[in-house]
Amino acid sequence: MADHPLTIPEVPIPYFFRALDWEQLVHDYPPAPRFFRTTYLTSPEAIRALQEARLPRALAHAYSVPFYRKRWDAVGVHPRDIRTLEDLRLLPTYRVDDIRRSVEEHPPFGDYQGVTPDDVQRGPLRLFTSGGTTGRPRPMFYSPWDRQVGAILRARAFYLAGFRPGDLVQNTMLYSLHNGAFIVDEALYHWCGCIPVTTSAGLVTRSRRQVEILREWGVRGLVGFHDFLMHLAETARELGYDPAKDFSLRAIASMGGQPRELERVWGCNVAENYGMHEVQVVAAECPAKAGMHLWLDAFVVEVVDLETGAPLPDGAVGSLVLTALYKTGAPVVRYDTRDTARILSRDRCACGSWLPRISSILGRADTMVKLRGINVWPEAVGEIVRRDPRVGGEYFCYVERREGRDEMVVLVERKAEVEESATLQRDLAEQLRTQLGVTILVEVCPPGGTQPFTRFGSESKPRRFEDRRHTRPE
Ligand SMILES: [Zn+2]
Repeated sequence: MADHPLTIPEVPIPYFFRALDWEQLVHDYPPAPRFFRTTYLTSPEAIRALQEARLPRALAHAYSVPFYRKRWDAVGVHPRDIRTLEDLRLLPTYRVDDIRRSVEEHPPFGDYQGVTPDDVQRGPLRLFTSGGTTGRPRPMFYSPWDRQVGAILRARAFYLAGFRPGDLVQNTMLYSLHNGAFIVDEALYHWCGCIPVTTSAGLVTRSRRQVEILREWGVRGLVGFHDFLMHLAETARELGYDPAKDFSLRAIASMGGQPRELERVWGCNVAENYGMHEVQVVAAECPAKAGMHLWLDAFVVEVVDLETGAPLPDGAVGSLVLTALYKTGAPVVRYDTRDTARILSRDRCACGSWLPRISSILGRADTMVKLRGINVWPEAVGEIVRRDPRVGGEYFCYVERREGRDEMVVLVERKAEVEESATLQRDLAEQLRTQLGVTILVEVCPPGGTQPFTRFGSESKPRRFEDRRHTRPE
């Protein structure tokens, strides 16, 4: 037979379409719309029972991963000691710095992965990183199961926002090493029946072209970070359009910032969601617009004290600590995200769901600055200054020592048509003082003046904060 000089080798390929038990997947983690008739309406007791039933497997898997085993052995806790959600607190939390250290000590992928390219015959893998706005990006491998559950969780948020099959949905997340754009893409394509319009961020498709596509193609949905979507609206105005009238948008799914502000500007429904690259979407806003419902079939979510790590009562602001219940690749158990929020309510929502609701993210714990005893987040400062119609929307905060005390300075861009800065500067300082209860110094600059600091457009998320307290003045 083989009388030809070259032989093509016979290597088995782990085909994606065979990598999953798809019926099991949609049974365990129902996608939209079934999710909204089932888990979404389930009683708090049933949700808790589901979480506690899923916990042992998630913990056993994590314990097989060196990163977790080391930490848990060090405190003498074994997964079998954990039976209830409260028992989880016996396990130590970890933070992004621990992940960074793991990558440094076990280059290039750390010891937290749970799957590696050696496991590929169990199913094809994907590799993405965090956004990299805070330090070096953290790589993560995703198993086919984790990838699809993640996409289902995100697609639920999109369905709640109002995306429907056949809708063209423009994805303004940066298609790069970062996971964000890809998980949005997979959610739209696999689990919404939507058609992703892959413009990517402004760096890839210029804002003006993005606006033209929105209009010419009759795009119905828009996904992105609040700041970029505000910038797109501004670009639309520059091109002579009214963002609220001249487009066919049905809905926007946004991350960060103020969804109601986007709603006003774009004149369509806006629903925010919260997530991160390790676990995809954790919570999303429903039509009642009274907070974001937590996807508790996939997570255990704790709110802990920023300093002591102790559990906080509902309503108190703390750091969100996440445990993912669905992971088969890189586990996530008691990840102290340092994203600050509070539980708004565990009562039944007007939408019928019992899933508890959290507030928008108030800011990162590590950008929180204590000024004269008051906690201030740069994001909160940004929100206040941006409400002023004379402000162009871009801002940058830094904190430094001045005459022996910490001062926060906010750099604000005035709009091109605003000629006089002094009045604006005085008004903003007054608004900040009355709303935050502490003095923030305001510097007004011309349009584009914050770009060297925010690097807006060149990264997936603009930088908003720098701590200059420990750098010597030049
Ligand atoms: Zn609701």
